Amino acid sequence: MPADGITPEGTAPGPLELVQSFANTLGAAGGDLLDTREKAVPWLRGGGLMPADAIVTGSEHAALLRLRDALRDTLAAHAAGRADADAAARLTRGLADGRLVTTLTPGGAVKLATAARSVYPSIVAAIAVAIAESGAAGTWPRLALCQDPECGTAFYGQQSVRHCPAHRIG
Ligand SMILES: [Zn+2]
Repeated sequence: MPADGITPEGTAPGPLELVQSFANTLGAAGGDLLDTREKAVPWLRGGGLMPADAIVTGSEHAALLRLRDALRDTLAAHAAGRADADAAARLTRGLADGRLVTTLTPGGAVKLATAARSVYPSIVAAIAVAIAESGAAGTWPRLALCQDPECGTAFYGQQSVRHCPAHRIG
C-alpha cells in the first residue's frame, strides 16, 4: 500500500489484495485461471505462493477450489450485508489447512505463520494470514463480490456496497 493509504478504486489494501486476486481467479472475463492443476500451478508460482519446483496434488487442487468457492460465497454475503453461516463454516474449514500458529521473533514481534512445512498449507496460510490481518484491521467486511449477475468480481469498497465500481448505479 502507498504511504498515503490510497489504492486504486476497488483494489484492496496491503495483503488483502492477495485474497482479492485469489477470489478473482474465477470471473466472467477471464474464465477460470485455476480450473486445472496445469493452470493453477503457474498462477500460484506467479503470485509467489509456491516455489518454482513445487507442485500441488489433485486433492490439494480440489481443496484450493473449495476454498475459493467458500471465499467467494463469503464475499457475496459481504456485498449483500448479510451473514452466511454455511460459507463462513466452509471458509473456516478450508483455512484450517494453513495450520496457523502464533510465533514470536527473537526481537519480540508477534506473527502468524504456518506450522506446516509442505507446500499446500503454506499457500493456504498466506491467504489465512491476510484474512486474519484484515479482520484485525477492520477491512475484511469491505472486500465484497459484485452482485451484478454478469460480473462477480471481488472488489474493495465501503461496507455493504453491492456492486464493483464498473457496475455501481448512481
Ligand atoms: Zn461488477
